Amino acid sequence: MGKRYFCDYCDRSFQDNLHNRKKHLNGVQHLRAKRAWYDLFRDAAAILQEEQSKKPCRKFLQTGQCDFGSNCRFSHMTEQDLEKLSAQVQALSQAGEQRLKELRQEGADVPLGTIEDWLEKRAKRLSAAQSNSALPEKPVPFQYPPGWPPPQELPPSLQAPPAGGWPLPPNLQWG
Ligand SMILES: [Zn+2]
Ligand SMILES: [Zn+2]
Repeated sequence: MGKRYFCDYCDRSFQDNLHNRKKHLNGVQHLRAKRAWYDLFRDAAAILQEEQSKKPCRKFLQTGQCDFGSNCRFSHMTEQDLEKLSAQVQALSQAGEQRLKELRQEGADVPLGTIEDWLEKRAKRLSAAQSNSALPEKPVPFQYPPGWPPPQELPPSLQAPPAGGWPLPPNLQWG
């Protein structure tokens, strides 16, 4: 079966591997869903801010009508409308913060910028760390100091140990 990747933007999941993920994250459908999500949030937040900065339109709120319509410089939103919108903005921003929190809990400080950027950087960092830690494990080939006679002419105490170390005599007992 394997792990599955769930995309919050698209509300669908698929088998998680590099190929699928790359294909999905660069797909038109996904990019559209992602933009729509951010637009939804930005629009709601912008509308809320705009409406809150206006004074209520008395005429509209009293009669339900106003000749200026959407061009009115006063707000046509009732208190309930504003509360609803504000709750929507809050829910959206909490959903966004929840995603960040989950990533941070995975053991990372998430910098500003998009989550995709951060994931990409993390992948690079991990693969760099892997290739770095592989380096010291490579055995350094032993070399005799320059100018020494060939190894077979050296006394045994100056000869390099064979690969795997000196063999132990079969009946060796310490003590
Ligand atoms: Zn998606
Ligand atoms: Zn009005």
